[in-house]
Amino acid sequence: MSTIFSKIINKEIPANIVFESDTILAFKDINPQAPVHILIIPKIEIPKVTDINGKEHASLLGEMMDAANKIAKDMNIADDGFRLVFNCGNNAGQDVYHLHMHLLGGRKMNWPPG
Ligand code: AMP
Repeated sequence: MSTIFSKIINKEIPANIVFESDTILAFKDINPQAPVHILIIPKIEIPKVTDINGKEHASLLGEMMDAANKIAKDMNIADDGFRLVFNCGNNAGQDVYHLHMHLLGGRKMNWPPG
């Protein structure tokens, strides 16, 4: 089932896009949890981590990692460090069922996460 992220991909609703390729979109989170909070998503609809097939989606996931590294460099958080998070399902607090990787940085983070 399509989510609000499909509307962002199709430019039906606005987002603050920081990176786009044929397969990937990255935009600022509307409710940022850190000075830098970007969502990196595939353009195809994969609801959640458990729907990933390693062989089928390997290059897509690699592109998401390349995008994260590029954005982190562009936003000057690569050297100090950052966090990449996939929330999967209810216990992790996943709200939007379109696969997304959170890129969080620009402040010191705690561990373990809440
Ligand atoms: P999750 O809880 O992992 O499913 O994360 C969903 C994220 O999407 C949250 O951090 C929301 O703030 C973010 N979000 C929801 N709607 C939008 C939107 N229209 N534009 C940007 N970020 C959004």
